[in-house]
Amino acid sequence: MRLILAQIGKNQTIGFATKEIVRLIKAMDKNIVLDVRRYDKKDETVKNAVWVGLDDSIEYSEKDRIFIDVENGMGIITGSNERSVLFSAYRFMTELGCRFLYPGKDGEKIPERNLDYSDLTVKINETESYKHRGICIEGSVGYEHVYNTIDWLPKVAMNGYYSQFFTPTTFFQRYYGNDITDKDVAAINSCLEDEVAKRSLVYHAIGHGWNTAPYGVEATGWGKYENEISEEFKSAVALYKGERKLFNNMPMSTQLCFSKPGVKEKVTDFAVEYAKNHKNIHYLAFSLGDGGRNHCECEECLKKRPSDHYVDLLNMLDEKLTKEGIDTKIHFTVYADTLLAPIKEKLNESDRFVLKFCPIARSFAHSYDDVDLDNLPETAPFVHNQDMKRDTVELNVAYLKKWQENYKGDSCVFDYQLIWNHHVDQGYFHVAELISRDMKDLGRMGLNGMLSCQTIRAAFPTGLPQYTMAQNLWNKEKSFDDIKNEYFASAFGDNAKTVEEYLKKLSELTNLPFVIGEVKLTADEVKERYTILKETVEKFREDYIEKYKETSADWQYLYAHSFLVPIFADIYIAKYNDTEETVKKYCNDYRNKLDELKPVIDSVCDDWVTKFDLLSKYLRRH
Ligand SMILES: [Zn+2]
Repeated sequence: MRLILAQIGKNQTIGFATKEIVRLIKAMDKNIVLDVRRYDKKDETVKNAVWVGLDDSIEYSEKDRIFIDVENGMGIITGSNERSVLFSAYRFMTELGCRFLYPGKDGEKIPERNLDYSDLTVKINETESYKHRGICIEGSVGYEHVYNTIDWLPKVAMNGYYSQFFTPTTFFQRYYGNDITDKDVAAINSCLEDEVAKRSLVYHAIGHGWNTAPYGVEATGWGKYENEISEEFKSAVALYKGERKLFNNMPMSTQLCFSKPGVKEKVTDFAVEYAKNHKNIHYLAFSLGDGGRNHCECEECLKKRPSDHYVDLLNMLDEKLTKEGIDTKIHFTVYADTLLAPIKEKLNESDRFVLKFCPIARSFAHSYDDVDLDNLPETAPFVHNQDMKRDTVELNVAYLKKWQENYKGDSCVFDYQLIWNHHVDQGYFHVAELISRDMKDLGRMGLNGMLSCQTIRAAFPTGLPQYTMAQNLWNKEKSFDDIKNEYFASAFGDNAKTVEEYLKKLSELTNLPFVIGEVKLTADEVKERYTILKETVEKFREDYIEKYKETSADWQYLYAHSFLVPIFADIYIAKYNDTEETVKKYCNDYRNKLDELKPVIDSVCDDWVTKFDLLSKYLRRH
């Protein structure tokens, strides 16, 4: 069969979309005869082609829309913008049987089949459920991991990548080691930014760091700054416990004295210059210092909440950007102390802003869909530099509602389902279900999507949670049943149901609320439950994994995983029934096993974060 693929125009994303169809369709059917062309615009006299690009089939819009109208190998693959055309190209291939389960080559499933013209009949007309569908860098990463993620995003119709800090050095140092410098990482990031641009993805950048960079101190991680700071900077730093100095020597977490003359001006001037020189950034994330409870205690600053000072700063930035004719959007962060809404100031009526709701302390044992919006709990009163109770989903939403009384504009959640707790869930099934429930319910919370603050490598033992996130951010009506069936069928073929039941059982046996410290179990209960967990894994390894482990990367991951889960179980059994020495021994075994398995699972498992979370953060709660 000969297929004419006709690219419309010279846009690089549309060129890439065409090339991706070529690559995938040829891998699917090596006998297909391709005739690839490029025209300046659609030529109605060429009848027997599949056109790829923007024509007048649908209206141009920033709102992503997939539009495919192909019949018997003729028609159009288009979208509401260049990025959407790329989504449509991947969707076309998905309709032919491809699946993009997780980042990296192994996540791409391309069935071999003979195609004829009647197979090339696809009609899709869908618009995004949510505007913001992005992934934000966290954890430990190398170039390839981030590249794989950026490459994967459009395959599943996710539209944004968020690079944290002026230079995201800390994440790369955790992977490559401390000898990699800011300059090296800036050079890596420069290549990654090209990949974002090539796909016309929405680029979000920075976050924390604005408090110190204008004074010449760049925060590229949570490290200490040991040099002297300038007198000018010292006088601008928050007065905290009677002193003006970097908070814990950490630029990332330092706050400023925003009522001091010239401070807001300096920070916003710096941000305007930055926006002017970085037009490739569509959304500047403009956050205060990380953490909290360390805001300025000078007499003037104490007259308003941190959120009120923040609103002043944001309004000033908006006005300056408008004056300069810069249309860069600004995220502002409803997080830690600024979770408490402003009461004296109000944000400008402007489409400049996106409220970024960051419920970092929420429980991941419960979903937004548990929340009764008509019966929200009372929020805590504001007390300067004192933390408030915010450990439940309901409380976080209650704080958000207060903000929504003040601000009605564009909003999204910046959430953490895939940063810490996901490692705990040994079957990765609980977290996938939670994400589906969360994503389906965002609209009811007044949130137009999610930027997922997550480890870039989060697909171990499967990519189901991340895949579910993408599916439900694009289409919130798609059922979790359909998503998981699709995933397991594509990854495990005839064994789909067996693997699904196995992983579901592991999640049930793990009992995530127990590991994260929300429910208590007795020593006997832990022993019984986690002994069954070990036996389940060992039996499944014997009955299935041993047989299939050489057949695919997906089975390889299950194989590797089957050695880690029993040690995880041993750690907890020992924690409740044995000495601290024994616990330490199993923790060491876990660490060594992860190191041994690294070559197999490097692209899907963030071993750095896993070690920290499982062997330190959560274990301390028991
Ligand atoms: Zn102050």
